[in-house]
Amino acid sequence: MKILDCDHLVIGAGLAGLSAALELSGHGRTVLCAKTDLSESNSSHAQGGIAVPIDGSDSIDAHLRDTLVAGAGLTDAAVAREIIAGGPARIADLERWGVRFERAASSSREADAAYDLGREGGHSVRRILHSGDITGAEVIRAMSAAARARPDIDIREHLMAIDLLTTGWLRIGGRDACLGAYFLDRKTGEILAVRAPHTILATGGAGKVYLYTSNPDSATGDGVAMAWRAGLPVRNMEFVQFHPTCLYHPQAKSFLVSEAVRGEGARLLNAAGKPFMHRYDPRGELAPRDIVARAIDHEMKSRGDDCVYLDITAKGRPFIRRRFPNIYATCLKFGFDMAKTPIPVVPAAHYFCGGVAADTAGRTPMEGLHAVGEVACTGLHGANRLASNSTLEALVCGHAAARDILAHPPPSVRKIRIPAWKTGNAVPSDEAVVVAHNWNEVRTAMWDYVGIVRTNRRLARALRRIANLRREIRAYYRDYLVTDDLLELRNIAAVGELVIRSAMLRRESRGLHYTLDYPAPVDSMCRDTLLHDLPGGGAI
Ligand SMILES: Cc1cc2nc3c(=O)[nH]c(=O)nc-3n(C[C@H](O)[C@H](O)[C@H](O)COP(=O)(O)OP(=O)(O)OC[C@H]3O[C@@H](n4cnc5c(N)ncnc54)[C@H](O)[C@@H]3O)c2cc1C
Repeated sequence: MKILDCDHLVIGAGLAGLSAALELSGHGRTVLCAKTDLSESNSSHAQGGIAVPIDGSDSIDAHLRDTLVAGAGLTDAAVAREIIAGGPARIADLERWGVRFERAASSSREADAAYDLGREGGHSVRRILHSGDITGAEVIRAMSAAARARPDIDIREHLMAIDLLTTGWLRIGGRDACLGAYFLDRKTGEILAVRAPHTILATGGAGKVYLYTSNPDSATGDGVAMAWRAGLPVRNMEFVQFHPTCLYHPQAKSFLVSEAVRGEGARLLNAAGKPFMHRYDPRGELAPRDIVARAIDHEMKSRGDDCVYLDITAKGRPFIRRRFPNIYATCLKFGFDMAKTPIPVVPAAHYFCGGVAADTAGRTPMEGLHAVGEVACTGLHGANRLASNSTLEALVCGHAAARDILAHPPPSVRKIRIPAWKTGNAVPSDEAVVVAHNWNEVRTAMWDYVGIVRTNRRLARALRRIANLRREIRAYYRDYLVTDDLLELRNIAAVGELVIRSAMLRRESRGLHYTLDYPAPVDSMCRDTLLHDLPGGGAI
């Protein structure tokens, strides 16, 4: 088995991983790996932008207040203040690497003009820096180019981490420490190890745990699952944010239809063509995101429909084409002319507020392991994420993790022997259909029983299903040679179980967790859920 040695291993190349790798550059060799190519990640899909208190009329205190309101009692104020305060310096870095944020056209010299700041739900002022409606793609483009220009950053695409290598697993005494990770080279099928005294986990979110998601295919919660198997605590996994309107079409799996469409007067209709939002909230289509998502979910489940419809036909074609050129063109590509007919939409899993317990510098309880970005739970988001705070967190915490690593030079790990990957009696699988079937079963069970509205009975049913599936997957994992699909299946099942178990522990409704059995918040439950050492953690 091939072993790669480096000074720093960064697993994941979205905003968080790139931010860390660029700051580590100049201080040894960094291996930066991504499961696909650098252009595909949750970061590259970010449309709205990055929330930063950069305007004279704004302040850290005001941004903090909005973040605390969204977090519904669970945001850690000190953590949030630190992350918000770190934003402006990271924006300066991005501009140095060539990101162009939109500016108002009031000055003859573009660089002198004030930023054209966007406003999103929950923000009391305009504070969203953006590059059109493709901010994430623009930022990833610039950061990837900067990383590719650094000779000490060794970028490895299509390299998928399987599991962390730890001293505990190797039965080396002393405090548990991370030594790197095993990887599957997705192009060759080869297994290799990367050995490093410092590992940064920056693997992003887990939207693929659910049947419908705005996330790209790579978002399978690998980092959370790997950390859990390595014995690390995970926090607040029950808080999953659902976006109310994703286009419902088998090929348009992750296409978001922006809230701005409802902002411009679009109505939501059920499959019988009847408006329904007024029955759920006096604000109708303009109610907050979680209320709209919950209303759609209820309408679909109670009627047994697959989707609802978004109708903006009353605004006429010229307006729709001018105001929503990208959404209009994409819908048309899938056969829906939104100027003529309502378009089918469903809510979709969008963002995981929970993750590997970490501080603002990504420090975890395991020596040599940092976790940053969506994979981590720092306490910034609490029970609900304020729009555009996650790109901010990824940038600030990625950078802080690198600074923390550079401030604490590690002992060398080069002499530690890494055992070759054991395939045992495993044979190539000729039953891809089993993996595909189980993928669907996990995602459907999570969607039907652990979605936007939960109950004790649905959670118990989901846990039984997922526990059975995990047993089956474990046997399959032992008997067949690993493939990327099997590894991802193993991870979405593990993350699914973590979400269910966290949701079972929260006997109240708070933020993004809503259960019919406990429909109100309960003061004594206003604390984080922490899962550690569950049965099955560490087992596969
Ligand atoms: C459609 C959409 C729109 C959004 N809009 C906004 C917005 O406007 N503002 C905002 O603040 N947030 C937004 N978000 C959320 C935000 O984009 C993410 O939370 C944030 O960018 C996450 O960054 P990250 O670096 O942690 O993870 P990601 O950007 O997801 O990067 C993860 C990286 O890890 C790699 N990886 C994963 N697993 C493995 C593995 N096993 N081995 C090796 N590599 C692995 C991936 O290949 C990828 O490179 C949006 C999300 C989506 C999906």
